[in-house]
This record gives sequence, structure tokens and C-alpha cells, in this order.
Amino acid sequence: MDGALDGRKYEELGELLAADGVSRAHALPLFRWIQTGGEKDMRGPLKRWIDARGGDLRTRVDQVRETPSGDGWTNKFLLGMADGSEVETVLMGFSGRLTACLSTQVGCAMGCVFCATGQMGFTRHLSAGEIVAQARHVADEAKSKHGERIRNLVMMGMGEPLHNFDETMRALDVLTDTRGMCIGATKVTVSTVGHVPGILKLARHPQKYSLAVSLHGATDEERGKLIPVNRRWPLADLMDACREYTEIKGMEVFIAWTLIGGVNDDLAQAERLASLLKGMKVHVNLIPLNPTDGYGGEAPADERVDAFQDVLLDAGLPVTVRQRRGIDVAAGCGQLSTTKKKESKPVK
Ligand code: SAH
Ligand code: SF4
Repeated sequence: MDGALDGRKYEELGELLAADGVSRAHALPLFRWIQTGGEKDMRGPLKRWIDARGGDLRTRVDQVRETPSGDGWTNKFLLGMADGSEVETVLMGFSGRLTACLSTQVGCAMGCVFCATGQMGFTRHLSAGEIVAQARHVADEAKSKHGERIRNLVMMGMGEPLHNFDETMRALDVLTDTRGMCIGATKVTVSTVGHVPGILKLARHPQKYSLAVSLHGATDEERGKLIPVNRRWPLADLMDACREYTEIKGMEVFIAWTLIGGVNDDLAQAERLASLLKGMKVHVNLIPLNPTDGYGGEAPADERVDAFQDVLLDAGLPVTVRQRRGIDVAAGCGQLSTTKKKESKPVK
């Protein structure tokens, strides 16, 4: 962890202060200032402590570019980190439901063939401070653009959050702290490719974060063609982990299914998915494929999407087709990438 303190939990700030002989009572204004900004109006021992630390107490992320979508509902931000790495972060949604979509890694090691981040390969994990700093950036933008605060966080940007478990959880625990940004824990969704050990750890984490699992295939053979890590964490283990999550947390699991024309959109697959999910507490989100440079697949026609959805509905499963937002600026699911040639131009 670097000198910045935005990845530190409230209690940890208290310990840092106490170790330097400063009262723990100062942890509250310190935490509030770091997390929510505003006036740095501090006096006495806390001010002296901050001055003595020197430097910036917050992780710096510099906005390199902002790309608003044509419909005005989505803003994609390209953010630069201290080491020159860049990640994308997205502000989405409408009044009362503003959502920040955060990245957890520079690139991704999981290699899903249809995903722009996967196509980049893996560079490094983000620190908790870098994840928190993205949320703060989006929150500031939400305030200035819409005069509202962020209500939801989705860990669906670049990277696999459960591959970077500790830093992601640390960031979320900070962001859900009522003394700081105060995002409701159940308004946080952690999306995973199906990292089984991570799901089992998340199930035991004290906070009730929502879990979304990216499935895309209902047999090991079909799923393995799209998601290489299915070999490591096969479907049977993955579904057991989901059941365990529901058992421990009492919460449903969101199942994401990216629909690719001629690949995983036939009705026989829908039937197999329905039987795989039988008896489980789940909600299925269908996401018609968003285009990426490195994959030739296409989204199915709307009627195919409807027919796929109907099979699941008939089987008694709750299903939603995810609204496609930000596609024109490559801010949709799976389109985030910081490879230069893939940068989209701002919409005029
Ligand atoms: N690594 C995590 C979270 C980031 S990806 C995960 O895989 O779940 C967020 C979601 O976008 C996942 O459900 C992923 O399967 C989906 N996705 C990836 N590429 C996509 C694409 N080209 N079109 C539509 N959805 C895509
Ligand atoms: Fe990584 Fe998720 Fe993209 Fe797969 S879909 S490569 S896990 S970011």
C-alpha cells in the first residue's frame, strides 16, 4: 500500500493516528475528508499529523478523457494512475439510480474470447485506493452533472474482481462505510467469471454484497469455448458455490448470459440453462453481445433474444434483458479496454 490513505478502513486510520500519539477521535474527520472530499478544515493535532505525513493522502487518478454516450445516459472516463496505467470507469443511469461501474484490474487474466478487456491480457491488480479513487471520481461527476449521489456500485469494469479479492473487498468495505460514501451493501454487485474460491470467500464476508456470475454456457463443453477458466472451475463446482452463497447469505445470485448469435442463443441451450438453474434462487440477465475488435461474433436478432427469454420464463425463472447503454462509445459490458487503437471517438 502506498502513502495514500483512501484504501484504509476507518478503524485502521484510528490505529495509524494512535500509533503516532494522536487521539483516535480524529479518525472521523480524517476518514470523512478522504472519502467525501469537501473542505480540508482541520486544526490542531490532526492538521499537524497530516502536514507531517506530507504528500497527498488520496490516490490520484487523472481524467485522460471523458466520452459521453449519444443518449446522455452513460459517461465513460479514461483514468490515468500514478504509474501511467490507465483504466476505464463508467457512470450510468438515470435519476435516483446513478450507478458507478468500477474496474478492479488493468486488463484481465481470464481471457474470455468475446471481451475487450480479456483481449488486452493482464497487466496488474488495482490497489484498494485506486478502486476507491475511481468511485470518488464518478461520484464527483454525478454530483456536477446530475446533482445526485451514486446509489449503486457494480464491479463490472475491467478485470476479474475475485482474482483481486483482498483489494476489492477492502475498497468495498470503505465505500459502504456509513461515515464515508455510504453506498448500501446490497446496492453493490460483484460480478465474476466464476472464480469459485472467490465466491466461497465472498459468501463468508460479513457484508451482503450481491453476486453476479457470468455463465454464457450451460455445459462445460460449450462454456469452455468462450471462457477458458471453465477448465479450472467447472460448472458443477461453480453451481455448488452459488448454492452455498445463497445458503449462507440468503440472497439470490444474478446469472449473466451474454447472448451470441449462432453460438449460445439456440433454444436447446436455453432449456439446458433452465435445467441447470432448477431449484436455485437466481435472477437471469441476458446481455446481447456488444461488439469488440478481437471477436467476430454478433448479437442475435431481437426475436431470438425474446425466444430465449421465453424458454427461461416458461421454466419459472425471473429473467431480464439488460438494457444496452453506451454501446456507441464502447462503454457497454465487455467493451472496456485501454488499448489505444480501440479508443472510440467522443460523440459530437
Ligand atoms: N470479470 C467480471 C466482471 C467484468 S465483465 C465478469 O466477467 O463477470 C462484466 C460483464 O460483461 C460480464 O458478465 C461479462 O461476461 C460481460 N461481457 C464481457 N464481454 C462482453 C461483450 N462483448 N458483450 C456483452 N457482454 C460482455
Ligand atoms: Fe475478464 Fe470478465 Fe472480461 Fe472475462 S468477461 S475477460 S473475466 S473482464
